[in-house]
Amino acid sequence: MTDLNQSLFDRARQVIPGGVNSPVRAFRAVGGTPRFISRAQGPYFWDANGQRYIDYIGSWGPMILGHGHPAVLEAVQRAAVEGFSFGAPTEREIELAEAILSHVPSMDMVRLVSSGTEAAMTAIRLARGATGRRKLIKFEGCYHGHADALLVKAGSGLATFGNPTSAGVPAEVVQDTLVLEYNNLAQLEEAFTLHSADIACLMMEPIAGNMNFVRSDVAFMKRCRELCTQHGALLVLDEVMTGFRVALGSAQSLYAQALPGFKPDITVLGKVIGGGMPLAAFGGPRAIMEQLAPLGPVYQAGTLSGNPVATACGLATLKEIAKPGFWDALSQRTHDLVDGLKASAKKHGVPFSADCQGGMFGFFLLPELPRNYSSVMKSDSPRFNQLFHGLLDRGVYIAPALYEAGFVSSAHSAEDIQATIAAADAVFASL
Ligand SMILES: *Cc1c(COP(=O)(O)O)cnc(C)c1O
Repeated sequence: MTDLNQSLFDRARQVIPGGVNSPVRAFRAVGGTPRFISRAQGPYFWDANGQRYIDYIGSWGPMILGHGHPAVLEAVQRAAVEGFSFGAPTEREIELAEAILSHVPSMDMVRLVSSGTEAAMTAIRLARGATGRRKLIKFEGCYHGHADALLVKAGSGLATFGNPTSAGVPAEVVQDTLVLEYNNLAQLEEAFTLHSADIACLMMEPIAGNMNFVRSDVAFMKRCRELCTQHGALLVLDEVMTGFRVALGSAQSLYAQALPGFKPDITVLGKVIGGGMPLAAFGGPRAIMEQLAPLGPVYQAGTLSGNPVATACGLATLKEIAKPGFWDALSQRTHDLVDGLKASAKKHGVPFSADCQGGMFGFFLLPELPRNYSSVMKSDSPRFNQLFHGLLDRGVYIAPALYEAGFVSSAHSAEDIQATIAAADAVFASL
């Protein structure tokens, strides 16, 4: 039988660099032929050969209701008939802003944009504009989109700033970006001592989904908040992945349970709030958000920002996930998956650790959960690739890289979870 995925990949590579429009899709880390997806429904999608997979990528997070949820589909179809894009304001943008703000009380106002990259990039511009400072702190292994100033890895020491991780990013552009180790309190203290009055913001993923699944310790988050306040810097939580994914109030609501009164200054959102359409946002208190054009001096704009079809999709999605019982059911499914995987790995003597929250999970082929990027990267990569392909051959699609999180949707049934654990059990047995 001809492999239609392979022929599409060959054709794609003629006209699209690497055959893909986002690098991880090319399966470079795990090897093999990327699956070209032809359609999806509920927790499944089908590739060009007609092979079905249980989907644990969910478009890297947005598809929290699974694919083709009837209420979302209806809202999108109705909006599409009314018009694709106007370049003028609509009532639905207000409705989506109100819905987002009602669940995330740290924000008084929100601006809608089209991608997480754009939202994170603008949040930094806003933080710099609002504080009149230039330097920013980020953590190794956290991803905040591909804006120039964020494509940076740690320099040789804390007094030095980072080095670009991409060609085309001049050293000057990242010279104000300081890259620290996640969950490292001593480095955090030292960075604020060294650069105190120059730091505009500290940006972090509260649960780092771009190193699979690494939680900020509560004590670390507490100290990030205290040091920002003490030194006049803004705490920016990038919740593009965790927002409306780990809890209805996003990850910040979990930290607020442990740290009463806790809130970030700026929140960055994306993925779930668009329900699979290009939509992202950033928001914060009124005084900060009013620094944005047209009210203030910080410029930002977008032809498709607040797009009417995307906002309809996001609104319908948020409405579903706010229904009573939604989070208990989703969390239970995710827990069942993680517990089943752990038990199976243990049975077969495979070193394995895993964690989850809401509809997001991560696992490592390591005996203990890692707390920072360098320990994530100690994961057994050849073994992960065997696991990935073993699952794929058995109709289970997880992220094709060991540093990426996984996602369960409300469409995943108990049977889907059991089938996944059975597939993993067979692969663990062969590892
Ligand atoms: C996905 C992601 C981004 C980038 O969002 P895009 O929509 O892909 O540009 C930024 N930050 C985090 C935490 C993400 O997970």
